[in-house]
Amino acid sequence: MNYKDLADLMFPDAKEIKYYEEKYPERNLKEGAIVTRIAPSPTGFTHIGGLYQGLIAKKVADQTEGVFFVRIEDTDQKREVKNAISEIVNSLTEFGFEPDEGMTSETEEKGNYGPYKQSIRKEIYQAYAKYLIEQGKAYPCFCSTEEIEEIRAKQEAAKIRPGYYGIWAKCRNLTVEEMIEKIKAGEKWIVRFKSPGREDRKIKHKDVIKGNVEFPENDQDIVIIKADGLPTYHFAHAVDDHLMRTTHVIRGDEWLSSVPLHLQLFQELGFKAPKYAHIAPIMKNDEGGKRKLSKRKDPEAAVSYYAEEGIPKEAVTEYLLNIANSTFENWRRANPDKPIKEFDLQLNKMSVSGALFDMVKLLDVSKIVISKMSAEEVYENSLAWAKKHDEELANLLETQKEYSLKVFGIERGNKKPRKDISKWSDVKENIAYMYEELFAKDTSEYLYQVINSKEEINKILDTYITKYYNENDDKQTWFDKIKELAGEMGYAKEVKEFKENPGKYTAHVGDASTVLRVALTKRTNTPDMYEIMKVLGKGIIQKRFQKAKI
Ligand code: GLU
Repeated sequence: MNYKDLADLMFPDAKEIKYYEEKYPERNLKEGAIVTRIAPSPTGFTHIGGLYQGLIAKKVADQTEGVFFVRIEDTDQKREVKNAISEIVNSLTEFGFEPDEGMTSETEEKGNYGPYKQSIRKEIYQAYAKYLIEQGKAYPCFCSTEEIEEIRAKQEAAKIRPGYYGIWAKCRNLTVEEMIEKIKAGEKWIVRFKSPGREDRKIKHKDVIKGNVEFPENDQDIVIIKADGLPTYHFAHAVDDHLMRTTHVIRGDEWLSSVPLHLQLFQELGFKAPKYAHIAPIMKNDEGGKRKLSKRKDPEAAVSYYAEEGIPKEAVTEYLLNIANSTFENWRRANPDKPIKEFDLQLNKMSVSGALFDMVKLLDVSKIVISKMSAEEVYENSLAWAKKHDEELANLLETQKEYSLKVFGIERGNKKPRKDISKWSDVKENIAYMYEELFAKDTSEYLYQVINSKEEINKILDTYITKYYNENDDKQTWFDKIKELAGEMGYAKEVKEFKENPGKYTAHVGDASTVLRVALTKRTNTPDMYEIMKVLGKGIIQKRFQKAKI
């Protein structure tokens, strides 16, 4: 009896690997095209790190006219969550990282290299496991959980490396006859890889991101097929990335130390190994130290957080590119209006340790992104956000569309557009004073700063509206009139004049203009008051002044 008999007994129905090798031929792509993927587990939580990987994979595939696909790694069936696949794919698509191939929902997929969900690739893994067994490169292991525990306890007591290797790999040295006998007797088995490695030898490997790394060879006879007939991550990775013709495995750096095992698997299976690019996780400053963004502690770790806060997808993408390549920031400065498609992302320029996630920076990026949007875009985005999160705002925007477009048009579309909105959830607070309904609810005080006499304030407001205000004035005339008003009130008409004559004036034109601004908005800081007045119109201006005077 030989290995072939053993393999036939274990997997009588498995096809020859030739079948799959022919079914999934080399891809016909141009030289240098990168075929890559993300391979998430359907856990029902899309981590920002997953989106980050999606962005990187999509970008390098697109840049090289390659392929980006999504493969669902659901071999750990205990962890399965409903609709998790759609959630992952929808997140990617919403952010513009739509995969070229792979699962598109829980049950559907596109592409010629599928199935793209591991649980339905069982027979493929078994064919390759059988192939290894036939050559004596894998074997059935009959050890029970208790026996494995026992081995571990002995290793611990003797303070030696844990695992199933060398003399500890009990089933490795069974004869084929013994194995066949046990199987026939109905003993339960799993399949282990027969590692050809030695721990006292080193392997050198060049990672696309981490550079040269050196590890001891793998000598563990790891499980490749579990008791439920499904593969472990390691085996599935080798089989899938080979058959799907992945050229670059871009994945989290927690897998870096598994590279010796993976290279061995590729070698023993007779596959050409892919290139590996191990990405450092996104980090966060925490009490003086650095730690990974955590699903449990950090709301911003969830991709869903950004939509809830109303941070535009474009801003998140820009920011993630900032984290990915520090050169992005300069590129963006030099090319403020180019689409990100034109930025050339370099895997080998990615941070080797973890890049820091900085919410303040993200919101700064977001302000710039929003500042470049048209009034119409700001309106549509604010409305879409409000419909889900703020009914009052949604109503206002919907019932007063034309007016709202004017509000959002203030200081927008010019050379130096306003940069005071960083997320849609800020919008209401930001524009509240432009709507009578919301302004009426503002119970805060009028804080006029320098000019505080009731009499003077009332006089400024009255004089301005009766004598100076004209809604057809251009900006220069409008401003000249405020100067005139300041003069009439006995204030300095120019700030310079005020400064050059200490003691001569109680206030200057800026202070008078603050009175107008505060009476109109209850704020000392707003976008351009000329434009605000234009949008509010005479009726509301009068009303506001009236209210401020009481
Ligand atoms: N399912 C693995 C993970 O989520 C995939 C790693 C890989 O990309 O190969 O970590």
